[in-house]
Amino acid sequence: MTTKKNNICLTFDMDWAENSIIHEITEILIAKKIKSTWFITNEIPSLAIMRKYPDLFELGIHPNFYPGSTQGHSEEDILLNLKKMIPESVSVRSHGLYQNTRLFSKMVNLTGAKIDSSLCLPYVGNLDVHNFVFDSGPKGSILRAPFFWGDDIEMLSNNPDWEMKTTNLEKDGLKIFNFHPINLALNCKTYQDYNRFKNACSSLGRANVNIEKKINRGIGVRTIFLKLLEKYQQQFMKLKELIPSSMSEE
Ligand SMILES: [Zn+2]
Repeated sequence: MTTKKNNICLTFDMDWAENSIIHEITEILIAKKIKSTWFITNEIPSLAIMRKYPDLFELGIHPNFYPGSTQGHSEEDILLNLKKMIPESVSVRSHGLYQNTRLFSKMVNLTGAKIDSSLCLPYVGNLDVHNFVFDSGPKGSILRAPFFWGDDIEMLSNNPDWEMKTTNLEKDGLKIFNFHPINLALNCKTYQDYNRFKNACSSLGRANVNIEKKINRGIGVRTIFLKLLEKYQQQFMKLKELIPSSMSEE
């Protein structure tokens, strides 16, 4: 498997964020003409806006397989429900990075997934997509695209680098960045910022607690988001653009 060295992708795990939060981010991306891939958890009005700009937005699925999932009653049910919501999806990242080989088989067979980004390899250099074979037969493999940076990973770090002052990001290879809209909206600096917010609302989708009062006004997730947009701009690719044409023709 060979892809162009130093491909850069911007991804978002929607994680049931409230529509106004998503809307604000999409406005920025549309204004700057920046490509991104969104892993969708649930139906919201902003999906219609993203679909108006298919050159900029790729919609993938973000299945939650953990107990209590609101997306369905079984792995199969969850995948089929999400595929019904996002029929155009070819990319998948599971919520909480839940994964196993049997599940990959279901993802491919039930949703037609071609590329998975449920593997996190933070700050690992020389990454590339790889074809992961989990079974025999034509639907026995999926392309895996590990992600290189995540806002939540950075929030958990002892010394988060929100201003790109370290050389952590200066690695060659595939660089997939992952943001959670709620972390971006709150401009979280640490995981405590997120937890404080989460504890104050019954569910993230009904986050009608006054978010304004909870926003961190210093450096945080938003700082690095804006720096990355400036640094890479039109270099950002959608995840599905990493799929070789020989694999996307089926
Ligand atoms: Zn998630």
